[in-house]
Amino acid sequence: MGTKEDNKPVDLQQATWGDVKGTNYSFAVLPWGATEPHNYHLPYLTDWHIAHDIAVKSVEKAWQKYQIRGMIFAPIPLGAQNPGQKELPFCIHTRFETQRMVLTDIIDSLQMQGIHRLILMNGHGGNGFKPMVRDLAFDYPEMIICVVDWFSIEAQKDYFENFDDHAGEMETSVMMHFHPEWVHLEQAGDGASTPFNIEGLNAKVGWVPRQWDKTTRDTGVGDPRKATAEKGKRYVEAVTDKIAKLMNDLVKESIY
Ligand SMILES: [Zn+2]
Repeated sequence: MGTKEDNKPVDLQQATWGDVKGTNYSFAVLPWGATEPHNYHLPYLTDWHIAHDIAVKSVEKAWQKYQIRGMIFAPIPLGAQNPGQKELPFCIHTRFETQRMVLTDIIDSLQMQGIHRLILMNGHGGNGFKPMVRDLAFDYPEMIICVVDWFSIEAQKDYFENFDDHAGEMETSVMMHFHPEWVHLEQAGDGASTPFNIEGLNAKVGWVPRQWDKTTRDTGVGDPRKATAEKGKRYVEAVTDKIAKLMNDLVKESIY
């Protein structure tokens, strides 16, 4: 180990044309986050950071374990938000059509370049890519676009004490693992949330978007205060092991 070949960048933040030219990249990864407040203790771009960090760790493992090479795009900060969030300063709500056009242009370029595997690494629960990916599967039949919601791969209860919906114990622990300098846990609110007044909405008989300003006092949903970097590391290792294996199989196997 330790050869120049092993140390090639996995990420377009560092990769040069010299790194890319003549190297066989068999898949691309597109991290996709959001721009939204995350309680008082995490940055607005938390979903954007974590989607990228999980992508880096997974692509590094895919090379180390399976000798397959992927390249990671710049993360997209354009997420779908709820009423009551868009009103908060600097939060961005992105329309479905905007997200679809961004994704389509990226797919269109990859198709031309002969890179037919894209992992869409989603970091934000409000993003819903499945309908667009179904459309794209008709328009680009050679492409395999695989959506990975990194936060729903492993059951939270095996790693964390309090369930995390938004800016809670899981996301906070993962950020403490990757970027401890940006987490201010002593400033965190308790992430308490107010349920709907209508039973069938709480029981998920039906769905409406939550009114964020009515749902939470500190913009978080889920108590982050028992978060630790150790919990985050354990979760990240388990999640990225599974994603790296999926990357390998998507590159080397047919899906049926
Ligand atoms: Zn988040």
